[in-house]
Amino acid sequence: MATTSLPRAASRGGSFLVESCAPEDVFSPAELTDDQKLIGQTAEEFVRKEVLPLIPDLEQHKPGLMAQLLRKSGEIGLLGGGVPEEYGGTGLDKVSTVQLAEKLSAYAGFGVSHGSNSGIGTLPIVFFGNAEQKKKYLPLLATGEKLAAYCLSEPQAGSDAQNSRTRAVLSPDGRSWILNGQKMWITNGGFADIYIVFAKVDGEKMSCFIVERGSPGFSSGAEEKKMGLKGSSTTALFFENCPVPKENLLHEIGRGHIVAFNILNSGRFSLGAYCTGGAKGTLEIAAKYAKERHAFGKPIGDFGLIREKLAEMAIRIFAVESMIYRSAGLMDRAIAAAGEDADKSHQSMKVYEEYAIESSISKVYGSELLDFVVDEAVQIFGGYGFHEDYPVARAYRDSRVNRIFEGTNEINRLLIIQMLMKRATSGVLPLMQAGAKLREEIMAGPSFEEPPTGAWADEERILAGIKKAFLLAAGAALEKYRDRLADNEEIVAALSDIVMQCYAIESLLRRVQKAEASRGAQAAAVMADAARVFLHDGADHVEIGARKVLAAVLDGDMLRAQLAVLRRFLKREPANTVAMRQRVSAAVQAGDRYPFEGR
Ligand SMILES: Cc1cc2nc3c(=O)[nH]c(=O)nc-3n(C[C@H](O)[C@H](O)[C@H](O)COP(=O)(O)OP(=O)(O)OC[C@H]3O[C@@H](n4cnc5c(N)ncnc54)[C@H](O)[C@@H]3O)c2cc1C
Repeated sequence: MATTSLPRAASRGGSFLVESCAPEDVFSPAELTDDQKLIGQTAEEFVRKEVLPLIPDLEQHKPGLMAQLLRKSGEIGLLGGGVPEEYGGTGLDKVSTVQLAEKLSAYAGFGVSHGSNSGIGTLPIVFFGNAEQKKKYLPLLATGEKLAAYCLSEPQAGSDAQNSRTRAVLSPDGRSWILNGQKMWITNGGFADIYIVFAKVDGEKMSCFIVERGSPGFSSGAEEKKMGLKGSSTTALFFENCPVPKENLLHEIGRGHIVAFNILNSGRFSLGAYCTGGAKGTLEIAAKYAKERHAFGKPIGDFGLIREKLAEMAIRIFAVESMIYRSAGLMDRAIAAAGEDADKSHQSMKVYEEYAIESSISKVYGSELLDFVVDEAVQIFGGYGFHEDYPVARAYRDSRVNRIFEGTNEINRLLIIQMLMKRATSGVLPLMQAGAKLREEIMAGPSFEEPPTGAWADEERILAGIKKAFLLAAGAALEKYRDRLADNEEIVAALSDIVMQCYAIESLLRRVQKAEASRGAQAAAVMADAARVFLHDGADHVEIGARKVLAAVLDGDMLRAQLAVLRRFLKREPANTVAMRQRVSAAVQAGDRYPFEGR
């Protein structure tokens, strides 16, 4: 991945592990502007009026219907968010993009079709197209006159995308590329007009091409019989001696992987937002049902175990939402710091690259959040949750694929640590220095420094301890495996989980502190409960993960000594999370919905 040239004002991607930030550095949904809210409202209204009534037809793949809805959403500007205004788009900031994604996900089949079209299908041309390509395609994509698909996966090449067998050779007259091969699992495959296709030039050099439907030798296969997302189109694509005009090469020969991976950064970030929106909608449905459904003479929502589910759903949404808006705010700040004269498209791509770690976190946490929420929703519905006439059954099926596409969660977990290590060794992130400082601190023994004070003193100490726990475990793993760390996937994934916990905990802590500062502790009391529950449970997970890593890489006295240090870092008083969850569930049940701003 290329190094970035981001403005100095922006904090670097991954720096949350080695730096502390102030509440005012973290964007929160409470700060959404009227314009940003309006984008969300427009999207929400569109889905409610135009999409939801047609779900039965969409689920049956009524021919042309999804394409028609996408085009209609394009007429009111919902497809051009990633396209600069000079090419007919709306050039949305990242916070607005999150709002849009959240609200469009009320029907997942529409959300994924939208994301594949306007995100990963359109952005390759925005970020890598030359002037002619942008002029030719972007105005059509921004309005929905043309629809797009992103075509990387092949039958034998999913996670291992570079194992592509699709080939491109220059025609004898030198005027076109001749494509041969097959793509698999392509969202919007059945109706898109423009396909972003990755193929190896001369069988070696991964490259990217813009292929138009109707090209000779190009065809799309039958709709796949999927477990969920039945309203979206997913097909194979076939290229048999398919000529593509020479000028439709996107970016450079042999640099297709740069296009592919940069675009996936944006896709992963947005996927977290789609999942958060879906989770909020599902919580609302579950909360209402818990009020209506009676057992043993009272609403099931009065039972502690149902209340606990509702609370936990809200708490996890709160954590993921806090991370995603924080990341979006960071990206917007970095773009703004580049100045008015900077090329916005280029900056947009650069920030996705800079915050690729945060985007992978968004993807993994967002998809696992939604799976948790839909699973608990099915449970709250009981037997009716298992019936297709009730909406949670569909939500359950639709959710599952989020952990698979845009890079499986296994691959993203590995990537998080791989990217961190790369940044550390190239000097972008002072991780090694932080590790060395920690070793000195450990050698010096318990510190007599003044502990943090104030309302959040304990939590600040735990957060600092979590960062140290990561450095401790990662340092021990690196010392043992050195450049073979990546081969030890179980260790890498455990470290990745600690990184994600750290970002989540800091994001929601800062958000609550910001809310308390602006509205007062009383008004933010339930939010504070949610943050404390997440933090305390999170610290438990971190401890388990760090112990697992240490026990795998050390033994004997050294292991015992490091475990003692770990315990010291994560020392904490027990918290009454039962009572805290009860207060959070009461807030959910008071409005039958996600209780915090950002609804
Ligand atoms: C509904 C749907 C829509 C999709 N839309 C698109 C689209 O629009 N465009 C597109 O290009 N693709 C699309 N995909 C494809 C998707 O990106 C791939 O399915 C995904 O990348 C996984 O690849 P795979 O299916 O080949 O699984 P595999 O790569 O075979 O993975 C199988 C399992 O092995 C694990 N695994 C693989 N490698 C490793 C490793 N190194 N370490 C540990 N575990 C590993 C994986 O995590 C997974 O659990 C879509 C898929 C689906 C189901």
